[in-house]
Amino acid sequence: MSVVQDAAAPATTDHTATDLDFRLTVLGSGSSGNCSLISSQDTHLLIDAGFSGKEICARLTARGFDPSHLTAILVTHEHSDHVRSVHTLSRKFGVPIFSTQGTFSVALREKKFSDWYEMVPGRSIQLGTMCVHPISLPHDAVDPVGFRIECDNRVLGHITDFGYASGLVMESLKGCDTLLIEANHDLDMLKEGPYPWSLKQRIAGRLGHLSNASMLDMLPDILHDDVKHLVLAHLSDSNNDRRLLTLQLKRALRRLGLEKIPFTLAEQNEPLRTLDI
Ligand SMILES: [Zn+2]
Ligand SMILES: [Zn+2]
Repeated sequence: MSVVQDAAAPATTDHTATDLDFRLTVLGSGSSGNCSLISSQDTHLLIDAGFSGKEICARLTARGFDPSHLTAILVTHEHSDHVRSVHTLSRKFGVPIFSTQGTFSVALREKKFSDWYEMVPGRSIQLGTMCVHPISLPHDAVDPVGFRIECDNRVLGHITDFGYASGLVMESLKGCDTLLIEANHDLDMLKEGPYPWSLKQRIAGRLGHLSNASMLDMLPDILHDDVKHLVLAHLSDSNNDRRLLTLQLKRALRRLGLEKIPFTLAEQNEPLRTLDI
C-alpha cells in the first residue's frame, strides 16, 4: 500500500463500530538516544532512531515487534540523539522517512534518500490508521517538530526537545489521552552541575530543553480526568533526579486531584512496557 494517504480521508468509516488498537512503546529516551514505536493495526511508526540500528532492532524484538514491519520513520530534528540510525534502518528495511525540509537539508540530504517525504508543521498526514500532526517546537535545531497523533478518536501527544511551552505546544497537547513530554533537568542541579557555562545556558535557554519545573507548570492545562498515561521523557543523566522528579510529580497530581493518572519515567537504557493510548 502507499503509506501516504489524503489526510482528509478518514481511517475508518465508522469510529463507533471499531476499537482499533493504538499503542505506544518508548524504546528509550534521554540525551544518548530517543526512539518510540507507535502502532495501530498494521501501521507501525518509529519516532526518531537515536540509537544504533542494532540496538533499536534488539529493543523492538524484545517488545515482540519485527523491525521489518515498520511503516515509516518520523524524524523530529537533526540532533544525533534522534537521527543516529535513521538511514541504516530506512535502507535495511525499505522504510520511508518523514521529516521537515529543514531537518532533511541538514541531517538527511547527504545520505541521498530516495524514499523521503516532507512533513510541514501544521499540515496533517494520514499514515495508515493514524493521522499525524507535526508541531513546530522552540528548540535549537533547523525546523524541529513534535507530534500529535490521532487514531480512532484517541490522541497521543509526543513532544520532547523544546525550551519552553509555547502557545502552540499547549494548544496541541489539549485533549490528549496519553502524553509523552519532556522533563529534562532540575534547574538547580543544572546550575550547580558539571557542564560548562555555555552548555548550561543552551540547555536552560528558550531554545533548549524543558526543565522539570516548566513541565509541572504545563500540567494544569493539559491533564484531565481521562488521561490514560503520562510519560516523562528525555531525562538528563547528569542534571535530573528521578526520585525528586517522582515526588514533585505526585505532589502536582495530588494538587490537581488527578493522582489516579498513571505515570512513567522513560529510561535511557531499556524500553518501557507497551502502553495502550
Ligand atoms: Zn534530544
Ligand atoms: Zn534536540
